[in-house]
Amino acid sequence: MNTLAERYQDVQARVKAAAQRRGTDPAGIVTVAVSKTVEPQIIKTAVECGLTDFGENRVQELLRKQAVVAVPRWHLIGRLQTNKVKDVLGRVHLIHSLDRWELAEYIEKRAVSSGVQAHCLLEVNVSGESAKAGVSVAEASRFLSCIYQLPHIKIKGLMTVAPEEDNPERNRPVFKELKNLFDDIDRLNLPGVAMDFLSMGMTQDFGIAIEEGSNMIRVGRALFGPR
Ligand SMILES: *Cc1c(COP(=O)(O)O)cnc(C)c1O
Repeated sequence: MNTLAERYQDVQARVKAAAQRRGTDPAGIVTVAVSKTVEPQIIKTAVECGLTDFGENRVQELLRKQAVVAVPRWHLIGRLQTNKVKDVLGRVHLIHSLDRWELAEYIEKRAVSSGVQAHCLLEVNVSGESAKAGVSVAEASRFLSCIYQLPHIKIKGLMTVAPEEDNPERNRPVFKELKNLFDDIDRLNLPGVAMDFLSMGMTQDFGIAIEEGSNMIRVGRALFGPR
C-alpha cells in the first residue's frame, strides 16, 4: 500500500507530464484534493504533504471538517441546495457548482446580507447526460451575460463533470468543447466574469483534461485511495 505522500508524488508527476505534452507550465495547474469521505486526520496529513486545496461535495461534511482541520483553501464541488447557501458563503474559496439561475439569485441575496462576495465557477453539462447538473453549452454565454445583475457573484471560470468512462480518451471531446467555450467567453469580456479557472478532470481522466487545457483538476481516489 502506497502512502499518501507517494500517491501525491505520482499525481504530481502525471500532472507535470501532461502539462509538458500541452506545452504549459505545471505550476499553473491547481490540484484540488477531493476529500469527501476522508477523515480529518488524513486531510491533516495531506496538508503536511503540501496539498493546499480541498474539495467537498456536501455542505454538512464540509462544515464538520472545517471545525476540526485547518486547510489553506476549501472548495465546494457538489450540488448546492438553496437552503444550504447561507451555511457555505464566506467559508469556501470557490463554489464550483453554480448550475442554475435560481441558485445564483439565492447566492446573491445571501451574499448581500452577509456582506461577502461569492466566487463561483459555472458548471456546464457538456455531455448532456440528463442526470447531470449544469447549464448546457448553448445556455452558458447567455447565463453569464446576465450575471452582472447579481453583483455579489464573481464568476471565475467553468467546471464540468465528465461521464464515467472505461476508456478516458472518450472524454477528450468533452474537455475540448469546454475549453473552446472557456476561450469564447473570455473574449466576450463580460462584466463580473473572469475566465481564470477551467475545472475539469478527475482521477480517471485528469491527464487528458490537462492536455485539453484544464488548469484545475479535482482528484480524490488517486490521492486517498478507493472510497
Ligand atoms: C468525487 C468527485 C471528484 C473526484 O473523483 P475521483 O474519481 O475520486 O477523482 C471530482 N469532482 C466531483 C464533482 C466529485 O464529486
